[in-house]
Amino acid sequence: MVWLRPIFGASNWVDPPFRQRNSTAVTTSMSRGGVVFCCLNLNLREPRRGLSSSVNRAYLVFGFGRVGHSAEGIKTPTMLHVPRQSRHQAFTVPELLAVIALIVIILSMLLPGFNNARKHARNAVCMSNLHQQAMGLVGYTIESNHFPGAHTWTHNAPKYWIIWPSRVRQFTHGTNTEWFRCPDGPDESEWNVAYGSGLPEEYGYNADEVRLEWNTPFSYGYNNWGSADFSVPQYGLGGLSEHADWGELPKVQVQFPSRMIAIGDAQVDGVWDAFIDTNQAPELPANRHPGSKANIAFCDGHVDSFTLTNLLSPDDIRMWNNDGKAH
Ligand SMILES: [Zn+2]
Repeated sequence: MVWLRPIFGASNWVDPPFRQRNSTAVTTSMSRGGVVFCCLNLNLREPRRGLSSSVNRAYLVFGFGRVGHSAEGIKTPTMLHVPRQSRHQAFTVPELLAVIALIVIILSMLLPGFNNARKHARNAVCMSNLHQQAMGLVGYTIESNHFPGAHTWTHNAPKYWIIWPSRVRQFTHGTNTEWFRCPDGPDESEWNVAYGSGLPEEYGYNADEVRLEWNTPFSYGYNNWGSADFSVPQYGLGGLSEHADWGELPKVQVQFPSRMIAIGDAQVDGVWDAFIDTNQAPELPANRHPGSKANIAFCDGHVDSFTLTNLLSPDDIRMWNNDGKAH
């Protein structure tokens, strides 16, 4: 059989039977040789006194050849030149470069896998975040019999304050804002609670708490308008708080809660980030997760992932509307 295998030879590597050495030849060992030997176990029998003494006795060879066994059961590869090294002879620069190159190659093979795993882990955190928010939303609607609405109306308030997160937050451990930040969203989209506004306790905000505004970076959006802005009746979950036509939507008006989009990944651009809808490109959900998908929480609390193509398809556009119809 023809083999291609890197071999760390040593001055005495041919002494013990090959089977004995080979049994540990590809196991991982950090204890004897440090990083140089992280992938190939030298299985040197004598205790090492440090890296320098280890490398003194190690010799790296790449080669092709046929593996055979001598009469004594000792491996005698025909392809290898394994010179006996002096115990005190150090690695040469080319040998060290070869080891470094090997490590780089191995890392280059492993890193994409690590990155991919981290992406999927962040996606799982995002879905969990959305589930927590959806549970808060369900709690809010049970308590109040209507959905929380999107933001305040300027006729009633001096600013557009975003109110759905603060109202939902009351039903997710009160002041916890960790769940309102997608792990794949930018850092500035984190909801950092601060005080000093001088405002009263209102819309789920605590007294003196600084409120989210229309231009606050935010990584999750609420389905305020559905598939059409300012329609009468409104199709989403409520555009403007306390407005006659676009105020907080009564709970019973959502025909199919398990198929009604509530909250999802939002684009963070500082312009109405806390809302998602289908009507303007900047308000479309952010497809920043594996498979170019956006995570979406529904009114019943479950979470799923969709491509934008799915979310805007003639069949699925009805998921944006409280009457369950395509408009
Ligand atoms: Zn996300």
